[in-house]
Order: sequence, then C-alpha cells, then structure tokens
Amino acid sequence: MRILIAEDDPVLADGLTRSLRSGEYAVDCVTDGVAADHALSTQTYDLVILDLGLPRIDGFEIIKRLRRRSPTPPVLVLTARDALQDRVRGLDLGADDYMTKPFELPELEARVRALIRRGMAGGNSLIINGKLNLDTTGRRVTVDNLPLDLSARELGVLEVLMMRSGRVVSKDQLAEKLYGWDEDVGANAIEVCVHRLRKKIEPSGVVIRTIRGLGYLMEKNMEKSGA
Ligand code: CA
Repeated sequence: MRILIAEDDPVLADGLTRSLRSGEYAVDCVTDGVAADHALSTQTYDLVILDLGLPRIDGFEIIKRLRRRSPTPPVLVLTARDALQDRVRGLDLGADDYMTKPFELPELEARVRALIRRGMAGGNSLIINGKLNLDTTGRRVTVDNLPLDLSARELGVLEVLMMRSGRVVSKDQLAEKLYGWDEDVGANAIEVCVHRLRKKIEPSGVVIRTIRGLGYLMEKNMEKSGA
C-alpha cells in the first residue's frame, strides 16, 4: 500500500514517514503543493495525507484538483488551523478525514488503516480466497485458520494480489505499491518475493500464476474457507 505525505514541516514530515514505513507502507513525501499536485497526477496512491497550509499551492486547491481525476485516493487532511470553517471547507471539498495538529501518531496510524481499508477493500477488512484469509485491519494472514509468517514485502505483495484476485497485476504495479521513490528496487526483488510467497501459501491451494510478459495472477479458489 502506497501513501503520499504532503507536509512542509520537516520534523512532522519525517516523523510521519518513519512511523508509516515501520508500519510497512511505501511512503513518498513532498514538501510543497506543486510537488504534491505533480505526484498525484503521475502516480497511484492508496491514501494521501495532506497538510492544508502548504507553500505554492494550498491543500484546498490540491483536493479540488484531485477530485477532478479518477480514481481518487482517500484524503486525510492535517492542519494547524482548527478554525471550524477550514474543517468544513476541507470536508466539503471531499477530504475523507481530518486531524488537527498536534496529534498523537497512534491515532493517525489508526485512521490511516481505516481509510485504506475503506478505499481498497470496499469496507471489508477480511479478504478470503479459498482457505487463504487476509485481515487487512490486523494485517494478519491465515491458511486454514493457521497464522502464516510473512515478511513485510511478502505481505504487501499478497495484499495487492488478493485484492485483485482473478486479474493480472504487473510487476510495475507491485513495485509501485511496495516501494517509495527513494527506495532501490532490485530487478529480481519482486520475483524473489513472489517465489517465497508461493511456497508459503501452497497449503491453501491458492495459486499465483506467472503470466509471461504481463505479470502475476492470483487464481480464485472456490473451496470454502476452513473446509
Ligand atoms: Ca504547513
């Protein structure tokens, strides 16, 4: 899952980036409105954390422009201004949630999880494919009700493939979901990760097929969970 942070306070931006990366998200961070607008028009994100008081283009204008595009990621607005009218204006423009600075990181993380869940899984926190279950809230995977031990990358890949079961996902799409701009993606990183993942989910009977030249496809398994 990939998140854009647009925040011009370097200390806050750094704290948010670290905290979300340790929560296994891919994070890009920009410090002004022009860079935010550019990132949002060229990349795909699962969530945007947006400071309203950004230099060059303010957060209100960013939301307006974002809403003209589709599909749009959920937006969590951050602001130092706690004036009621700002909050109302942000929400009217289409922000999905609001936090007033200063705030506690665990609360922000909880809201991030909730927004991503709403945006990606249509509100369901459990994705089921045969005996393979993924709880997107607790970020926990089970096969036949037994917990599976996955690395952060493996979990990320599995999450994307499961959300798009039955559809082909390209390596580029996986890389885009898993890594921020400043992270180095080795050519084989995705292949190695998928290889390991296949072995780990083997007992579930769910298969990840390689579609030559296109990417990967997780087959839908109609067997009942826990059967
Ligand atoms: Ca600011």
